Amino acid sequence: MDRFQDFFHQVAGHDGTLIDTSGLIFAKLAYQSEIDFYTRLQYSSPESKICNLDSLNSHDGDYDKYDEYGSRLKDWVPVFMGTLTPYAYSAPNNEGKDKDEITQLIEKTSNAVRCGGGSDAKQPTYIILNNLLYGYNYPSVIDIKLGSVLTDPLDPKISQKKHERLALVSKNTTSGSNSFRICGLRLFNDDDKIDLDMLNSTYSNRDGNRDDSFVKEEHIIKQSYNNKSYLKLNKGFGKSLKADNIKQALSLFFLSNSLSPIRKKKILENTLNRLKLFYNCLLDEEIRIFSCSLLIAYENDREKWDALNDHEVLLRDYPFGSSSEYDDDEDDGDDEDDEEEEAEEEKEKVEYRRKYVENDDFNGGTSVDNPPLSSLNLIDLAHARSVPNQGRDENIVEGVYNLMEILKAIYNSL
Ligand code: ADP
Ligand code: MN
Repeated sequence: MDRFQDFFHQVAGHDGTLIDTSGLIFAKLAYQSEIDFYTRLQYSSPESKICNLDSLNSHDGDYDKYDEYGSRLKDWVPVFMGTLTPYAYSAPNNEGKDKDEITQLIEKTSNAVRCGGGSDAKQPTYIILNNLLYGYNYPSVIDIKLGSVLTDPLDPKISQKKHERLALVSKNTTSGSNSFRICGLRLFNDDDKIDLDMLNSTYSNRDGNRDDSFVKEEHIIKQSYNNKSYLKLNKGFGKSLKADNIKQALSLFFLSNSLSPIRKKKILENTLNRLKLFYNCLLDEEIRIFSCSLLIAYENDREKWDALNDHEVLLRDYPFGSSSEYDDDEDDGDDEDDEEEEAEEEKEKVEYRRKYVENDDFNGGTSVDNPPLSSLNLIDLAHARSVPNQGRDENIVEGVYNLMEILKAIYNSL
């Protein structure tokens, strides 16, 4: 591991995330609970649903679907590589002289991190994950927090005050109305086409009676990184949105770019297909996760789209693996039988399960082999637990479902 630096492409959450100079590795200060959850996810066997080995027995030997990449929670979260704690990398005799780099970084950034009460507060620890934005040249990125219930009612570490505060946040935002909320986003803006007026005139909901300049000056921060311009919309923007303009805000994220209409559509199509797969995955997972987020990104570098002929895999096994069992092509062949079978199999609200697709074009699913044009992942597992035999997490399933419905409407209007 080489040196760490501030991570520019962070869009939400506590300040102070880092990446290493290769760009492959992402680090953030984390609670022990998040580290524990990742550890259990990582070590759960390939056939099992997350850390719940007992549930194997309840699936009547039908394990086939678990072999599909994307059917397990761990296919969607970053790869967990370990942790770093202060002093762990100090030379033994160096104490008091040169603090090691990790210690310095933690001292520099830990003020920004509210480590809460309890034992978690004593020793800030970095969790080391793969950088989900590795391989992007000029990404636009959005963080969407899932669920209307934002705190775990069974977590004894959370005070009544915090439960109440976040319940109120939910009530007053799209967390409550839509079971998801935009926490922050950053748009690539190198040709400076995007500004406050442009956003409001293009995306405001003119149907409503009120003066709907829904992006306000205080929501926007102009930024520059590697001589390129970006525009960040902060969490105040996400919190100001309501059920009647959340669609405009999502349109703003997916459409405010200089990509061709066909490419814009492709990004939405691939995002929708990923959401379907993720939704199916959640139907089978017996977990409860509070305040997790979807991290969605797309590439703005047109040359990269050209080089890849607009083609990419739906799911990458970041960053070192080699799985690419889905691509972004339409299914062909005998899905009718399968569809009938599936309708019988599960009488869910919606069944989005896609057929397994063999992809000859891409036989390695890494981001090195298959640079991303867009991606969708689940992050922020600080408040996650497994609940054997208690069924799916309706709280986040609902959010994913509602998000899909809105993105579908945007897609169909293009
Ligand atoms: P917090 O507890 O501070 O909310 P998150 O896990 O949500 O922590 O991370 C904060 C931000 O860091 C996210 O909004 C996202 O922009 C970025 N981020 C988190 N994990 C990764 C990752 N593995 N790769 C790239 N960016 C990430
Ligand atoms: Mn977060």
